[in-house]
Amino acid sequence: MSEDVASAPDALEADPGPNEADLIQEFVDWVEAFIHDVEAVTDDENTRYWCSQWWRHPEAVTRLRALHQEYINAENENTLSGWFVYHWDAHSKTLFSPTGPFELCRTEHHFHKDQETYTPRLVTEAVPPGWEP
Ligand SMILES: [Zn+2]
Repeated sequence: MSEDVASAPDALEADPGPNEADLIQEFVDWVEAFIHDVEAVTDDENTRYWCSQWWRHPEAVTRLRALHQEYINAENENTLSGWFVYHWDAHSKTLFSPTGPFELCRTEHHFHKDQETYTPRLVTEAVPPGWEP
């Protein structure tokens, strides 16, 4: 018995839930499925800006992760209609916008290319000690 535990420690522990790699893969699968569905909607004028390597763009990843988390909540609460109106529609306006995170990806990965020397245009300073929101 103790040898079994030693050889397969994960299998006999209390359900630890999905591991980090599983959660990441689930997120990636979700993004790919959604983009596939979006692409199914005709866009003859090619107005949607997107990048096949979306995962190289931090703002896009942050927005998509937030969308994914809210999507899970909406599925559990049976509020997908609200999710589309208040989350997907709102974020997709920025994600696919000509001024969004994929602004220059039709020719190159703008953010990734400049990442080494990136200087933020919107600067922040460290909060003072003891600051609270
Ligand atoms: Zn790109």
